[in-house]
Amino acid sequence: MKDGTKERVEIKSLVRPHLLGIDGYTPVEPIEVVARKLGLRPEDISKLDANENPFGASPEVAERLAKYDQFHIYPDPAQGELREAIGAYVGVDPEQIILGSGSDEMLDLAARLFVSPGDAIINFPPTFGMYDFLGSVYNARLVEVPRNEDFTVDMSAAERALSDGAKLLLLASPNNPTGNLLPRDQLLRLLEYPVAVVVDEAYAEFADESSVDLVSERENLIVVRTFSKWAGLAGVRAGYAVLPPALVEVAWNVKIPYNQSVTSEQAILASLEDRERLMERVSLIIEERERLAGLLAELPFLRPFPSTANFILCEVRGIPAKDVRDRLRRRGILIRYFDSPGLRNCVRISVGLSKDTDRVLDALKEVGAKIGR
Ligand code: PMP
Repeated sequence: MKDGTKERVEIKSLVRPHLLGIDGYTPVEPIEVVARKLGLRPEDISKLDANENPFGASPEVAERLAKYDQFHIYPDPAQGELREAIGAYVGVDPEQIILGSGSDEMLDLAARLFVSPGDAIINFPPTFGMYDFLGSVYNARLVEVPRNEDFTVDMSAAERALSDGAKLLLLASPNNPTGNLLPRDQLLRLLEYPVAVVVDEAYAEFADESSVDLVSERENLIVVRTFSKWAGLAGVRAGYAVLPPALVEVAWNVKIPYNQSVTSEQAILASLEDRERLMERVSLIIEERERLAGLLAELPFLRPFPSTANFILCEVRGIPAKDVRDRLRRRGILIRYFDSPGLRNCVRISVGLSKDTDRVLDALKEVGAKIGR
């Protein structure tokens, strides 16, 4: 350096050391990529691997965006109109709402708010992969409290973990990928501990149950929700958190400014205005879920678990779940498979349209015939 020559910078040596070892989040492949690999057209694919809405977004979204002409102006930094509309939708004071680019960003905000390196985050696997991903990114001590065999929370293990001290507890209700709800009495027990409890309600509209009403009463509860599933806005990125009043100011101070794009803002407003149609679609998805569950239960090599969400988890018997996933994939039907200690040999099938149900059933029957089941 002294003689004017620059030292070569080993850029990775500047990265926070713990980040060099983390596993990234594994996202699903885009439909065009899968279609190309399979030699199919995207429209010939039944995409049942990411719990997306098979009806798409409200048609009002495209209409509203077609008329919008303020893309060159930054969004309202206070998210005022959105917070009013969402406050009315969930029945809380708009002051308690904060929006982000998907509920994923709101989960990240919670970790950003509470977790210093080495702090404990309590997680209840099998569950949504984002929670242990955030634990790694924030260099937290991830305390795993495995669920019971029926996927309910092991309350005594949870209370033991809480007694050891934790900053953040992350729990999805309905849980992904298992589909079950967290009973309110259990949530109330968890809230007795000095820990920030985040209830992730990404699928709440399909279960018609929510803990939002508790947020104003309980200083340590945050509820995170999204427009990705019930309103079909997964591609737009539109999520929000309902915060206890005491947390509002600091949450606003640490949130990235202008994080909610005008596109997302307009799509959310249009969706809330067209709520009736979207809720009718939610009802249709629930009906289809029940039809799919009944049909899956008739297949001898599958054991579907009850679901309150827009997907069904099934235990697979007599064949690796990955093979079932692969065989369906070759026919253009995309589902997820799991094979981890808490989730042995399972597939998760998102609820699609009736034609998707028929297609997935035909394919599964063929798989059953091949394995003699
Ligand atoms: N929470 C759960 C439980 C989920 O399953 C998902 C998406 N798969 C999310 C949050 C993230 O949703 P969003 O699109 O709002 O980021």
